[in-house]
Amino acid sequence: MSFRTHHALDCADLGGREVVLAGWIARRRDHGGVTFIDLRDASGLVQIVADPELLPVVEELRMEFCIQVAGEVRPRPEGTVNPDLATGAVEVAAHTIEVLSPADTLPFMLDDRTDLDERTRLEFRYLDLRRPRMAANLRARSDAVAAIRRTLDRLGFLEIETPTLVRSTPEGARDMLVPSRLRQGAFYALPQSPQLFKQLLMVAGVERYFQIARCYRDEDTRADRQLEFTQLDLEGAFWSEADVQAAVELTVAAAVESLRGHKPPLPFRRLTWHESMDRYGVDKPDLRFGMEIVDLGKVFSSTDFRSFASVLEDGGVVRGINAGTREFPRSSADRLTELAKSWGATGLVWLVVEEGGTVRSPVAKFLSEAEISLMIRDLGATAGDVLLLVAGEWSTAVSVLGQLRLQLGRPETHEDLEFLWVTDFPMFEQGEEGLTFLHHPFTSPQDLKVMEERPLEALARAYDVVVNGVELGSGSIRIHDPNVQRRVFDILGISPPEQESRFGWFLRALRYGTPPHGGFAFGIDRLVMVLQNEANIREVIPFPKTQSGQDPMAGSPTMVEESQLLELGLEIADDD
Ligand code: ASP
Repeated sequence: MSFRTHHALDCADLGGREVVLAGWIARRRDHGGVTFIDLRDASGLVQIVADPELLPVVEELRMEFCIQVAGEVRPRPEGTVNPDLATGAVEVAAHTIEVLSPADTLPFMLDDRTDLDERTRLEFRYLDLRRPRMAANLRARSDAVAAIRRTLDRLGFLEIETPTLVRSTPEGARDMLVPSRLRQGAFYALPQSPQLFKQLLMVAGVERYFQIARCYRDEDTRADRQLEFTQLDLEGAFWSEADVQAAVELTVAAAVESLRGHKPPLPFRRLTWHESMDRYGVDKPDLRFGMEIVDLGKVFSSTDFRSFASVLEDGGVVRGINAGTREFPRSSADRLTELAKSWGATGLVWLVVEEGGTVRSPVAKFLSEAEISLMIRDLGATAGDVLLLVAGEWSTAVSVLGQLRLQLGRPETHEDLEFLWVTDFPMFEQGEEGLTFLHHPFTSPQDLKVMEERPLEALARAYDVVVNGVELGSGSIRIHDPNVQRRVFDILGISPPEQESRFGWFLRALRYGTPPHGGFAFGIDRLVMVLQNEANIREVIPFPKTQSGQDPMAGSPTMVEESQLLELGLEIADDD
């Protein structure tokens, strides 16, 4: 006999029918001999009513026992209907209840409203996942992935797996290493992404590839980072930017539709990297609110205010944001100034606009009437608005204002979605030991000549998708000419012998008729996090690690047996 005839949710439409259900006790209340049980299964909740004759078994029941119930579905008595519950108009009058499996006393209540510390939640993750909100997140993730698969299948993509024991390749993060037993002293890396394999699939003649890929990066974890995470990885041959972007938009839109019920407007907006930095101070702008950074260089071009004048003379900038009308006591001004300094500004100028076009500010006396009125005009300010100005090098000024903008204006939840493409990233940036890449070293430059002559000015054929200030993913058109690939390695300071030893195998593959190709990868965890309105990717990952990379449930990472190390030819260094 099967364990049940129906699920809890089915009961909504089963008035008068006999059912057998199986699930967990989410709640029980006793009312003068009659016991009410909320029975939860994967479909939802239904109320069970147990009459006094079932008392012997009911007395045994505790929270989260796994039980089987047989009974009749009937309408709830008038006045007890619960409009917030899908099955709120019915209840199941039980005639038999059987305990399938008892439960120990719970370490915490599974009520969604309980605020628990995360370690405890992760230690008992299997219980945490029973909470309706977490169960909804798991379902949402599955629905999003199903929508993604359907879309890519319809577009003619092949789903192909690539290895997870790979050769260490540079993609910007530290590799996770796996020692080889058969070749002692040698290591595999876990893939930071399937980047080179998907490029090889293009060489192999697969013109449309995708994979729901696990990726591993040994980085400090943050709210939107884990040591291991899942990407939708895709690549196409004979593709230019517009082709990649169209496929990505359709895929993201399908995932959004599956969870939010409607598609976002397509195509997504576009901003170049430079515009994004200039107007929002970041390369992943949150476009749900304004507060754009405004260039005030002209306003102060002949100012007597020394701190602005000297910065402008040195080729720096004066930029500002209108933080809108808000309470602005001295303590807020001090706090924001401290923040601005911690982000690299030499100081923060704040002004509160008063009726009649004057300002309240410690620097008001240094500014002319004309400067004040032009500044108010350019920042679109009216009485009561708080204006924040930073003078300095362009990159510092915009980045500090960009962070202040987020601090002051960012909505706390993700009700609205603002997707955009950020395009035209620089190829390289100045690192401590020479030039480093912004995306990864397999990204094609826009103009070879510029790259050769002025590498720091060279733009890449790279693009990111951003939603609500969260970087969802990145991609690029790749280098398909081995000579160009070598030149990029040269510029990155990878010597020819090193190129040969690390990438010779890959460079060789590029010599066999490689089609022009490009692709993209976006974080499934991040997308589902935003769509489910969560602040943290750990809420949408079934078994995540803590911020310090631990699994409090199984206790990993752990020390291993001496014999295991011996087999691998490894020894733990003394800690002195
Ligand atoms: N492999 C890249 C990443 O993981 C994405 C791409 O360029 O397709 O960020």
